[in-house]
Amino acid sequence: MIGMRMRLSFRKTSLVDFPGKIAACLFFPGCNLRCPWCYNRGLVLGEEPALVPLGDVVRHLAKRRAVLGGVVLSGGEPLVYELGNLIRRIKDLGLSVKIDTNGMAPASLEAILQDRETQPDYIALDLKMAPRRYYGVLTGRGDPASALPASAALVRVSGIPHEFRTLAFPDGFVAPEDVAALSALVDDAPWYFRAFRPGNCLDPAWDAREPASAGDAEALARFARSLGKQGIASSEGGIP
Ligand code: SF4
Repeated sequence: MIGMRMRLSFRKTSLVDFPGKIAACLFFPGCNLRCPWCYNRGLVLGEEPALVPLGDVVRHLAKRRAVLGGVVLSGGEPLVYELGNLIRRIKDLGLSVKIDTNGMAPASLEAILQDRETQPDYIALDLKMAPRRYYGVLTGRGDPASALPASAALVRVSGIPHEFRTLAFPDGFVAPEDVAALSALVDDAPWYFRAFRPGNCLDPAWDAREPASAGDAEALARFARSLGKQGIASSEGGIP
């Protein structure tokens, strides 16, 4: 369980992080993956200086509830924490909840989905590359090859609006073969392909890489469409 003294990063207002809603965004420190391109370096490594206590964040949400429509729980990886009580508090304020997750904590995801009071109203699931490649590249703990499919299955059958997100790279680092493997995990919900942007990467060597172009993202999106997948979109905006 998380206490009100826990510190996290907080964005008071966002128009782009929760589809159709003005949202506040809570970024939880720590992550169970280590993506070398991650731009939340300080947050993932616990070195972020500008963290605020959760109690202050909840008080702000209560004050702004008339203006806000929702709250995004992001990271880092929010599901490394027990989020049930926090989700209840946010919903008691009349606000919707979106979860951004990397899919590496299916048991935590299942726990909040099982209770109607803690079910999020929207889920965004990252699909980074073919699950078997997670081992060598993302140095995660646990078993990504089973965790990611398990999380995707929970999301698909949840009945909750959701989206999938994949980052494109300029050098084919995420290849059509990855998209083919990931296509088994998605349904007809939106699947966004966006372009990698270097800057403050978890592995500083990745800051020297070229950014991906809209064409790189569109090439992967085109391939996903060729597999008969619906809801495919690409854009230049970066995602973690
Ligand atoms: S990109 Fe996301 S999943 Fe990867 S290390 Fe960063 S916060 Fe964690």
